[in-house]
Amino acid sequence: MIIVAAGSGARLKRPEPKALVPVCGRPILSWTLDALSPVTFGGKVIAAPPGRIDEVRKLAGAGAKVIEGGATRSESVRRAFQAAGVGGDNIICIHDAARPFVTAGETAAILLAAEEFGAAIGATPVPDTMKNVRDGQVVGTLDRSGIWAAATPQAFRAELLAHALDSGDEATDEAALFEALGIPVRVVAVSRLAFKITTPEDLQVAEGILRNRK
Ligand code: C5P
Repeated sequence: MIIVAAGSGARLKRPEPKALVPVCGRPILSWTLDALSPVTFGGKVIAAPPGRIDEVRKLAGAGAKVIEGGATRSESVRRAFQAAGVGGDNIICIHDAARPFVTAGETAAILLAAEEFGAAIGATPVPDTMKNVRDGQVVGTLDRSGIWAAATPQAFRAELLAHALDSGDEATDEAALFEALGIPVRVVAVSRLAFKITTPEDLQVAEGILRNRK
C-alpha cells in the first residue's frame, strides 16, 4: 500500500501540510491510516511532506516505510513505488492521505478488481449537472450519465504500474497514465464519503462526520 501524503494543501489555507492538519484532535493522515487498518497489506510506504518524515514515522508506527514525497503527486507515487521495491503481478494500492473516510470494504473490492483486471479505481457518479464554463459564462453541459468522479484507492498490477509511471508524465491520478497507454481501468463504485479533503469547508464536513461517529 502506498499512501501519498506529501501535498502542501495550498487550497486548505493552513500553515501545516494537508495530511498533518488536525481534525477532531488528530492529523488527517492518522484517520486515513485507521480507515485502512483492517485491510492486510504486504507492506506500507508513505510519501511524507518535505522535512516531516520523523513526524509521519511516529504517526505511522513500526512497519511503514516513510520516504520524502516529490514536488508533484506523480513524483510522490514514483518515489514511493521505487521504495516499495515490488514488481511482477503483486498488486499496488495507492491512496490519498486526504481521503480518510474510504472504507476497508471498498478498498478490498478495489483490490479484488485489480487482481482480476490489472487496474481498478474507486469512483463515484457525479450527482450535479456538469457545466463547461469559460470566463464566467456557461459554454456547455456534459451528459452527466457517464461522468464519474475519480477517487482513491486506485490499485494496479505492479508491472503495469511500472510501465505507466515510466512515461514520466504528470497526472492528477494514476488511472490517467493507464488511459494514455490504452490499458483498461476497471471502476468500483465507492461512497461519496471517499471525498478528498481539499477546502476549508471540507474540513468542517470531516469534523462533522467524525463527531457524528462518537
Ligand atoms: O493536491 P491534491 O489534494 O490533489 O493531492 C492528492 C493527494 O496527493 C494528497 O493526499 C496529497 O498529500 C498527495 N500529494 C503528494 N505529493 C504531492 C502532491 C500531492 O503526495 N507533491
